[in-house]
Amino acid sequence: MSIQVKWVGIDFGQTLCDSSPERTYWMIGDTSKELGQPELIDVRCHRWRVLKERYGSWVAIKEGHRDEIASFVFDDHPDAMATFSIMEQKYTKVADGAMDAIKYLKEQGIEISVVAELKRTFGPIGTDQVSRFLINQNIIDYFNELITPQGSVNLRDGYVDLKYKGSSKETGDLYDILAGDLLERGIKPSEAVIMGDKEWSDITPAQKRGFKAIQYIGFTYRAPSNAEFTIRHFSELKNILTGVKG
Ligand SMILES: [Mg+2]
Repeated sequence: MSIQVKWVGIDFGQTLCDSSPERTYWMIGDTSKELGQPELIDVRCHRWRVLKERYGSWVAIKEGHRDEIASFVFDDHPDAMATFSIMEQKYTKVADGAMDAIKYLKEQGIEISVVAELKRTFGPIGTDQVSRFLINQNIIDYFNELITPQGSVNLRDGYVDLKYKGSSKETGDLYDILAGDLLERGIKPSEAVIMGDKEWSDITPAQKRGFKAIQYIGFTYRAPSNAEFTIRHFSELKNILTGVKG
């Protein structure tokens, strides 16, 4: 069974972006070398494990306690976070099969955007973690927009729209705004699909606004959902999504 859609919104962390937690040790190692402190790699990796036990997961630290990476892991070294961000980019990859799937969607005439839970810096293209990733991975041309709770940016012309600021995927008001935006362009929520890993922020709140939903469990399987589809690999998108002809 497949569904016809005009628009796909893909979540970033643990969906489009493969950010397996093990890679963090390489990031800490390379950052320490770059700072000229290779002798501190072991102690910093240990501190990282301490942080992980304290907050539960890599994602929780990255999204909620990033300042402690600077202060606790890297002893407030003034250059640490700039270097760490570069290493993050180096070790973060597009999910397996995502490139082919994205090309397929474009051939079908389906528009693709990123719907990310960005909690920090947001502004012109290339100033935030997500658009930098899209540029570095050479895939930014496939995407129309980056939509986040900090605002949205049109990846074609760079136009920044702040009406999303303060909204959230979890409470779902981000999807209310998105549904309105798409309707203005002739796309009904039922012709749009949200793909992501988290039941409580990517799936259920989007479905409540009439979007279709795909739960991606390639990296994590946090909670089952009533998503229309649950997939393990991006290649499965070819079987479940087709464009709207004519
Ligand atoms: Mg996610």
